Amino acid sequence: MRFCVLGGGSKGNATYVEAGETRLLIDAGFSGRELETRLDALGIDPAGLSAVLLSHEHGDHIRGAGVLSRRYHLPLYANRPTLQAAARNLGSPAAVHEFTTGATFTCGAIKVHPFAVSHDAAEPVGFLLQAGGLRLGHCTDLGMVSRLARHRLTGCHALVLECNHDPEMLATGPYTPALKQRVRSRHGHLANHEAAELLAELLHPGLSQVVLSHLSETNNTPELAAQAVQAAITATAQPPPQLTIACQQKGSNICQLTPNAK
Ligand SMILES: [Zn+2]
Ligand SMILES: [Zn+2]
Repeated sequence: MRFCVLGGGSKGNATYVEAGETRLLIDAGFSGRELETRLDALGIDPAGLSAVLLSHEHGDHIRGAGVLSRRYHLPLYANRPTLQAAARNLGSPAAVHEFTTGATFTCGAIKVHPFAVSHDAAEPVGFLLQAGGLRLGHCTDLGMVSRLARHRLTGCHALVLECNHDPEMLATGPYTPALKQRVRSRHGHLANHEAAELLAELLHPGLSQVVLSHLSETNNTPELAAQAVQAAITATAQPPPQLTIACQQKGSNICQLTPNAK
């Protein structure tokens, strides 16, 4: 299995995941053209994609989904509330597969388990993807870490995790009081220290890759996010995973997971 965060933040999110012949996008929150450009830059042909999984209907997660679906005849996978809320934005996709939150389904070589997360959308989900004995946990918009999310992300070999804001920068930054409240609420986004605490709990010898994503460009910096997470990681006795920060302009490198990864 290999994966790559194509970019992350409030202006667009997408992650590429490949196992065997199956090539998925988790979210398609950039324009169709921008997604093609970012895939091209990695040597990935968008025409070879198998499907797009949608986590929730916010524009920064679905912007290019309809276009890509029509252009490359890609099926979109989402739960019903998300499809209903996203209907106008998606237009007429080439194909739609409705999944049930909490029920595992198969997409080619990849087993997909969508699980509920706390965020202000119709029925937002995180994803656990499994292939060849490897597990990738993907969770980018969550206001709080529920027991369910913690449980689903336990035992993963790779994680893509939201690290949205520094509480101090948010408090003193330019957002309106209402928006600040929304971001830090249980239905908003994870602060750096919350992501760090979660990660410290999830560390185990098999976790080899962690990509921090959905950093706020206004209320965070890659340095602050890295600092918070590094501090939490080094405080545990577990071997540290490789840590990458994905930003809006630039995503991660391709992360390769192999069955014998520690
Ligand atoms: Zn988002
Ligand atoms: Zn969102």
